[in-house]
Amino acid sequence: MNTAANANLFSRLFDNLDEPGRLAIETIDGVEISYGELVARTGQMANLLVSRGVRPGDRVAAQAEKSVPALVLYLATVRAGAVYLPLNTAYTLNELDYFIADAEPSLVVCDPSRAEGIGAIAAKVKAKVETLDADGKGSLTDAASMADTAFATVARADDDLAAILYTSGTTGRSKGAMLTHDNLASNSLSLVDYWRFTRDDVLIHALPIYHTHGLFVASNVTLFARAAMIFLPKLDSERIIKLMARATVLMGVPTFYTRLLQSPALTRESTRHMRLFISGSAPLLADTHREWAARTGHAVLERYGMTETNMNTSNPYDGERVPGAVGFPLPGVSIRVTDPETGKELARDAIGMIEVKGPNVFKGYWRMPEKTKAEFRDDGFFITGDLGKIDAKGYLHIVGRGKDLVISGGFNVYPKEIESEIDAMPGVAESAVIGVPHADFGEGVTAVVVCNHGAGITEADVLKALDGRLAKFKMPKRVIVVDELPRNAMGKVQKNILRDTYANIYAK
Ligand code: AMP
Repeated sequence: MNTAANANLFSRLFDNLDEPGRLAIETIDGVEISYGELVARTGQMANLLVSRGVRPGDRVAAQAEKSVPALVLYLATVRAGAVYLPLNTAYTLNELDYFIADAEPSLVVCDPSRAEGIGAIAAKVKAKVETLDADGKGSLTDAASMADTAFATVARADDDLAAILYTSGTTGRSKGAMLTHDNLASNSLSLVDYWRFTRDDVLIHALPIYHTHGLFVASNVTLFARAAMIFLPKLDSERIIKLMARATVLMGVPTFYTRLLQSPALTRESTRHMRLFISGSAPLLADTHREWAARTGHAVLERYGMTETNMNTSNPYDGERVPGAVGFPLPGVSIRVTDPETGKELARDAIGMIEVKGPNVFKGYWRMPEKTKAEFRDDGFFITGDLGKIDAKGYLHIVGRGKDLVISGGFNVYPKEIESEIDAMPGVAESAVIGVPHADFGEGVTAVVVCNHGAGITEADVLKALDGRLAKFKMPKRVIVVDELPRNAMGKVQKNILRDTYANIYAK
């Protein structure tokens, strides 16, 4: 438990700053920001926020491209006792209208090109608007640069809100996950230990900072460890491989690893200086894990988390990093697998709902008490919506989102099982199995398959390869070969899009 005088995440990060000259962030333009400077800039930004009327507990919404000032805005918001609300840069004005109306921020920060459209939306909730562009310039930084660097960090309790992150909401309305100062601080500190971060680490930071992965896992862990991070605006394989010569850790979504593997520059030699490759936010194919190990000699460390819970499990630092598994519960985190209907805990190896409890788990959904209540068990476990199993050695395996479960002819079909079989076929790059409305079966098991270049695999080839390997009810009724699977920025396959695209293939 936290023993700091002030539970504000910012205080826990920086109150004991002993080497202010140490490098915190470096940009690809060669700009270097020390810890002392970072803290000074958050002081300026926090003073500016207060001058714009932001009070403790107020929300500060930001739809901004990745830049150091955008990170400073996050830290300053927390420092001022307000609640940071990052918004995916892909959201349209129509979508922003919902988030801003729902969260009622007192300040909205956006790209100058959107100031007019967002201004009209913000006016409805009487929020002020400041601008910040991809280079970190705009009215926000102009004004902050004139402000005083001294700022007394606002006192917060463990349970006070530090951030609200909206879930991606592929089904129903997006929900605002309320994260407390202690949720964020305790999880990052636990990861610093688990992944052995030290001051000597240099993280290649190429993730977006509107999502839990890049904002909290990558940034907070680095800052707590007093390590350095190199900020890249986005995934750039060749640059990342060059940076590996002086970096030590990469955090990525699985797409990072598949893209990096496409470069011949990725070798044992080019990764020699690195100590750790971490993957999360979407399943890393076991094949990718093996291919990476064969090429570089490094076993990717896969971990599992979500917006609502921060990080839950991780493969071990020492010990076997099992391809296709997400590892053990982090210290202080409890994981159980239950019957989705009854909530009764299941035996090892049985597939069921993954539930989690611990200091990492969020406080609830913003202004949705009913929804919050429905997703927690009476004993405090959060129902993740992910299906999985715990194996005999205690490793957690995820078999997919509960909503992706296919029920065909009354039988449960776990997409991951079919996908693993298809992916094992020579010439197949990856696959996604979905349920599509079917008059006889309720849902028809449908496989969407991507082949390696020139492999020329057909529907009949896939069905033939699966014949005898899968029970009849699990066999795909149709196999569709495509060039690529739809993915969002975090590398997640968007099965909802596939379900929409193929909604009518069994229509009579
Ligand atoms: P988000 O809230 O956007 O971070 O999405 C969280 C969801 O991503 C989880 O509920 C899982 O379904 C999925 N996820 C995260 N990490 C992994 C992983 N290592 N393997 C499989 N799925 C993952």
